[in-house]
Amino acid sequence: MKKTVIAGNWKMNMTRAETKAFFREIAPLVNAKDSCGVVFCVPFTDLAAAVRGARGTGIKIGAQNVHFMEKGAYTGEISAKMLREAGVSYVIVGHSERRQYFGETDETVNLRVKAALAAGLKVILCLGEMRDAREKGITDEVVSMQTKLALRDVTEKQLRSVIIAYEPVWAIGTGLTATPEQADETCGVIRATVASLYGKKAARRLVIQYGGSMNEKNAAELLAQPNVNGGLIGGASLKPAAFAAIVAAANGKN
Ligand code: PEP
Repeated sequence: MKKTVIAGNWKMNMTRAETKAFFREIAPLVNAKDSCGVVFCVPFTDLAAAVRGARGTGIKIGAQNVHFMEKGAYTGEISAKMLREAGVSYVIVGHSERRQYFGETDETVNLRVKAALAAGLKVILCLGEMRDAREKGITDEVVSMQTKLALRDVTEKQLRSVIIAYEPVWAIGTGLTATPEQADETCGVIRATVASLYGKKAARRLVIQYGGSMNEKNAAELLAQPNVNGGLIGGASLKPAAFAAIVAAANGKN
């Protein structure tokens, strides 16, 4: 059966020392061995400490980006193989902050998805509309197109290692949240798009997370929506108690 997955995205927060302290605090609060899936996507320099801190807890560790080439003259980049060797099992691809501030395009998102999957990483593929698209009423077209372009040449088998995070850009880090109905409806559009590409069974199996100011107060209602199978959490993933409360809300759903 499909599992709910709650993933934290620390963004550019937490030093190595803070990472060690965080995992000491979160480990007793989250028993990820018999709960929903729990993932923390941490800065590259925190990966080793996070992998060590998560040992024995069932919590999985992810990175926040990956380059699409195997190796070579790409200063500042990190390959999928390097991440695998560091004990990483997940990677976020296509986060809106990468798209907005670092020139990430649908094409490079697709290349990164394929490189990560080829190396055996699981992908949390982020997509979502900007505020003006929501206001113009073209959200469905935008997310459907992003889904198709990001998954180009990804096989049905590989899709089993993909989670899609629907993150309306206007809701990320703003304190604004999509209503549960908006989240469910747009996650439904993404699922229908995946069904058109891979069939209904594959679409049913797909974990689709909602992301955008999810916190301990609104998580239960968002996670109760049929098309919402988890959350990608930014700000609240930096606070052990808040994050543990979101995991508890997700376990209420399972
Ligand atoms: C994110 O960074 O993916 C995110 C959803 O952030 P926040 O929860 O802070 O809105």
